[in-house]
Amino acid sequence: MAWLLLAPAVLWLAILLLYLRPMRAAWREPTLRHPVLIIESDDWGPGPPGHALALRRLTDCLIAFRDNAGRSPVMTLGLTLSLPDGAAMEASGFADYRSRPFTDPAYSWILEAIRAGIAAGVFAPQLHGMAHYWPDVLLRAARSDTAVRDWLARGDGMETESLPSPLQSRWIDATSLPSSPLPPPAIEAAAREEIACFTGLLGSPPEVAVPPTFIWTSVVERAWAEAGLRCLVTPGRRYDCRDGAGRPTGPDGRIHNGERGVGGLLYLVRDDYFEPAYGHQAGRALAALEEKTAQGRPCLLETHRFNFTGEQAEVAFSTLGEMLTQAQSRFPNLRFTSSAELAKQYRDRGDWLEPRLGRRYAAWLARLRRMPRFWKLARLSGLGFVLAGVGKCLA
Ligand SMILES: [Zn+2]
Repeated sequence: MAWLLLAPAVLWLAILLLYLRPMRAAWREPTLRHPVLIIESDDWGPGPPGHALALRRLTDCLIAFRDNAGRSPVMTLGLTLSLPDGAAMEASGFADYRSRPFTDPAYSWILEAIRAGIAAGVFAPQLHGMAHYWPDVLLRAARSDTAVRDWLARGDGMETESLPSPLQSRWIDATSLPSSPLPPPAIEAAAREEIACFTGLLGSPPEVAVPPTFIWTSVVERAWAEAGLRCLVTPGRRYDCRDGAGRPTGPDGRIHNGERGVGGLLYLVRDDYFEPAYGHQAGRALAALEEKTAQGRPCLLETHRFNFTGEQAEVAFSTLGEMLTQAQSRFPNLRFTSSAELAKQYRDRGDWLEPRLGRRYAAWLARLRRMPRFWKLARLSGLGFVLAGVGKCLA
């Protein structure tokens, strides 16, 4: 009879052993004391002059809000630092890749609007890339694909999100699928070049990079780290190639906030979305903030330039305003910050990190509830009840 009484404990132990690694990783991730909201906006860079107006309007919108520490919301701007020069490429019969840098006088209005937003404390520039593709791969595609040549003919209206998805990845050779690696010396030179270019453009080196399409390799990660980068925004896992169907793929395993990568880069996780042009409402972002707060994690909302410059811009601006209004009223302890500053908190074990065991345990439990297979087993076996009971004792 005694073994019958012991059976649940043996089952719980088996479940715990099976999930020991992800449970330990979830525990090791620091817990934040406050709700933290960062709006991460990618794909800004050279474009039509109207983009400067969108940036000024974003600045006006963001500056109207404050957290209880007096800080305005921060929108990180993932910058691409050049656009292809389609006319020059066509004139060469697509023999050579040519580009126009962000420093071209045609883009000065956009650059000035970005600098003004940085000075106002509402924009935080991040490195997205010298380009949103690998130039030789784009050039080869242009030689064989009329759609790519048509795209190159759009001038400053080129939006890289209109390119075939594999071409938008900068750090792989997606000429054919599955993708193949690029030569490491070429990657290293390109990583150094884009960091130098960013530094020249804005007067200080980038602290944070967001790899285009979230595909990057350990070679580029090391090169960025050696060139002074400190933080990498990830989707919570690593993708370093594309499979035969063009889907991003890579080694298994989750990435956690505060984890260190190759060369010591600190990882952040961005896996919530705010794309009003796709119909995302304020409520979706607020639900993400609530969930991340319960987990003691920051809420990094991914968004893109096209929301605020395209046909849906009016909707995007009003949804952004509504989201920030509600975030301010529903989360009194909310902290607005940038990804670079958040990374510093993790790196320095700053005062935003929760030291109290009971709070850390509650956040850990909320994280475990988001591990679907584990939590299903825990619930069915009664282990979930035990874990929740421990949390009540620690509270
Ligand atoms: Zn992008």
